[in-house]
Amino acid sequence: MMYQSTRDPAHKKYSAAEVIKMGLAPDGGLFIPETIPTLTEEEITALCGESYPVRAAKILSKFLSDYTYEEILADCEAAYAETSFPGGAAPLVHVRDNIYSLELWHGPTAAFKDMALQIMPRLLSRALVKTGETRDALILVATSGDTGKAALEGYKDIDRIKIMVFYPVDGVSRVQKLQMATQTGDNVNVCAIRGNFDDAQTGVKKIFGDADMAAQLNERGFVLSSANSINWGRLAPQIVYYVSAYCDLVNAGNLALGETMDVCVPTGNFGNIFAGYIAKLMGLPIRHFVCASNKNNILTDFLRTGTYDRNRAFHLTMSPSMDILISSNLERLLCFSAGEERTASYMEQLKMTGAYTVDADVLSEITANFSGYFADEQATAATIKSYFEHDHYLADTHTAVALSCAEQYLSTLSAEELRPIVVDSTASPYKFAADVYESLGKSQPADPLAALDELSIATGTEIPYPLCGLGERTVRFTTVIDADDMPAAVLDYCN
Ligand SMILES: *Cc1c(COP(=O)(O)O)cnc(C)c1O
Repeated sequence: MMYQSTRDPAHKKYSAAEVIKMGLAPDGGLFIPETIPTLTEEEITALCGESYPVRAAKILSKFLSDYTYEEILADCEAAYAETSFPGGAAPLVHVRDNIYSLELWHGPTAAFKDMALQIMPRLLSRALVKTGETRDALILVATSGDTGKAALEGYKDIDRIKIMVFYPVDGVSRVQKLQMATQTGDNVNVCAIRGNFDDAQTGVKKIFGDADMAAQLNERGFVLSSANSINWGRLAPQIVYYVSAYCDLVNAGNLALGETMDVCVPTGNFGNIFAGYIAKLMGLPIRHFVCASNKNNILTDFLRTGTYDRNRAFHLTMSPSMDILISSNLERLLCFSAGEERTASYMEQLKMTGAYTVDADVLSEITANFSGYFADEQATAATIKSYFEHDHYLADTHTAVALSCAEQYLSTLSAEELRPIVVDSTASPYKFAADVYESLGKSQPADPLAALDELSIATGTEIPYPLCGLGERTVRFTTVIDADDMPAAVLDYCN
């Protein structure tokens, strides 16, 4: 199984290990598999009887042919161990009628990025060996909060890798700051930047583009690598839980083998939903994808009109992980529907003008599989309240956007057309405790840490282990620097 760039009509091939190490293709495109491996009904039947780590190993080994099955299984068992995911890696919970919540947030940071970031670092560590790399990898991350913590948890104590995370000193919540400042592990470093998220991100990008930095890091025995969400190593593990959800529906008798289900995904960068589409292309019986957006509804507009236009206002919402105007992974879907040449031209137009319109054949192929809906802030809050009051289901702000969109989609179907719909639940409600609490009709407590306890008392639900006792943990990282001093801090860390 080899990979190629979404922008390369010549189809130059790369191995999975190379692709995981490189992250982005040299022409700026994203890596996609040259062909999609198949998943037969017999294989799905067999997977129904397996645990999550084995389901993951079986699926991943179809994509990572330069890794042995034993290597992949060992990594999956370590990544998705009961100790890290005490509620199960991806439990499917019945919510109401034919709506099921696929809870992807039982991992070490209580959000779905753990599903990929718990395993990807292990795959990268092996990729260094497989590609004959003699240097160790240095991961640099600029974060507005959640990705930084998930990356720190994923990379901590992984062989031959160091990680350094930069965050804007006044740009993350108190909970997020505490989560990062108390991070454990011998190969981790966290540093606050005077400035905003853009300053941190620009600083990291500068370091990546700086030949002199590369040379100095090289002397110290390091090669730079990124934990970016466009890395194939982050996408592939996300295919697994769609298959797993299907197996769980079959096991529970809610679906006969071969019958289809619908899927609804709260979407930002289009990574999660695209992974589901790959599962469908493999042969998993998925009928339709609902792409759920918040008030930043650029994808809703794209799926309804064929025009992607980022020249619009940017809204800060209570589902911040979906506050995105450039959905990078959409490029992978475009490549599947439009081919490399047209994809390269759409991306060029996006860069030059901030917009592009796909051809009619491309739009009709995409809308055969995807519909876009959105929920504004009011609808999101009302959904949290309604699901808690009627179904005793406590959804976080991102999951609530998806539940609202799933309902909008379901209202377009006749009774005979209804299928089970799997709604991805991407964060624990406690990750966004203050907004969830307020959505239930209460006034926000002044102290954000107190919101966790208040929410627990008001709803009779438990605070997940990663967020318990945050205030009592030992703070390890307190450094605050100017963005200009980031390169020096990186070199210092690598000495
Ligand atoms: C990252 C994230 C999303 C968006 O996922 P994409 O793969 O970027 O579409 C949704 N919800 C939460 C909680 C997230 O952290």
